[in-house]
Amino acid sequence: MSARVRIAILGSTGSIGRQALEIAAAHPDRIEVVALAAHSSAESIASQVRTFRVRHVALGDGAAAARAASLVSDLDIDVEVGPDAVAMLPEIAGADIVINALVGAAGLRATLRTLDSGAILALANKESLVVGGELVTGRAGPGQMIPVDSEHSAIYQCLLGEDERDVAAIWLTASGGPFRGRIRDELADISPAEALAHPTWTMGPKITIDSATLMNKGLEAIEAHHLFDVGYDRIRIVVHPQSCIHSMVEYVDGSVKAHLGVTDMRIPIQYAISHPRRWPAPVEPVDFTKLGSLDFEPPDLETFRCLALALEAGRAGGTMPAVMNAANEVAVAAFLDGSCRFTDIDTTVERIMIAHTVEALESVEQLEALDAWARGRARKECT
Ligand code: MG
Repeated sequence: MSARVRIAILGSTGSIGRQALEIAAAHPDRIEVVALAAHSSAESIASQVRTFRVRHVALGDGAAAARAASLVSDLDIDVEVGPDAVAMLPEIAGADIVINALVGAAGLRATLRTLDSGAILALANKESLVVGGELVTGRAGPGQMIPVDSEHSAIYQCLLGEDERDVAAIWLTASGGPFRGRIRDELADISPAEALAHPTWTMGPKITIDSATLMNKGLEAIEAHHLFDVGYDRIRIVVHPQSCIHSMVEYVDGSVKAHLGVTDMRIPIQYAISHPRRWPAPVEPVDFTKLGSLDFEPPDLETFRCLALALEAGRAGGTMPAVMNAANEVAVAAFLDGSCRFTDIDTTVERIMIAHTVEALESVEQLEALDAWARGRARKECT
């Protein structure tokens, strides 16, 4: 039997993490799960540890770590505690590939630690690129980062075998979210339940709200800028409600390569592990004879202000995307717990961006201090 690839999953109890474990379960001859980390879901991670016989475990939250340790006390394994333990875990476990599926800016330290360790980083935590920018790309060796986000996986695959000098533009497709076609006045009274009903993708709550505000597409534009070293003037966003085309690359000769498939996150997650090979996946193939029409339209930047603000933050560069992201995380959490309205999300993000004077990116400590400042300001605005 050939050696199995050793994977660590950070954020194993979330949507991406659980799907990564489904892939591991489908390919036991190819994948060995060596480490699992989560923030606070003690019961879920304890059962994952048992199923996959994992020896390296960490939880960000102290009380949850104690609970998880008691649930697996018969297995004689140590449950590590705290964000630094989560970031260090893959290296201790000797992982070949680290799937970083942590939620939000908390993923940055794990991203940097993984890059320094030399392991392949399968990046599902887009915020660490949005926040860390050049601090992250500057630490990554050639081919060390592979995107898990469906759009970026698509672009990555469309770029294979091409010369980056021949790229004219990147086309990021957006489903448009559940409120596509509405005007801004119709969004004020949206409930969290309505915003959580995404038309095409099944995802965790934070990214689903970001998809409803189109902030997610703005974060993805910044992510694409860093991953593929393409200027914002060459990143185009198009609303494509069927989400069948996952993204496209346009070349200088007018040719466009598109990546198509069903909307199932297991495909890009698995590709990040199997690359450069492809493995069979338990998904329904696209039946082009039943597909019908594919629609495209420009995004409505007046209604979905978050997208315009994220692009503005990306163009400003430096520390602005980190501040924008922190304000958004606070506003989304406030919307989900009912303490602010849907339309307060972009208002909050805009106010915090106006209050911040952009600085050049210097260090993780600088980013963490600004993150704390932006969160404090945003909490005052929207709760
Ligand atoms: Mg995406």
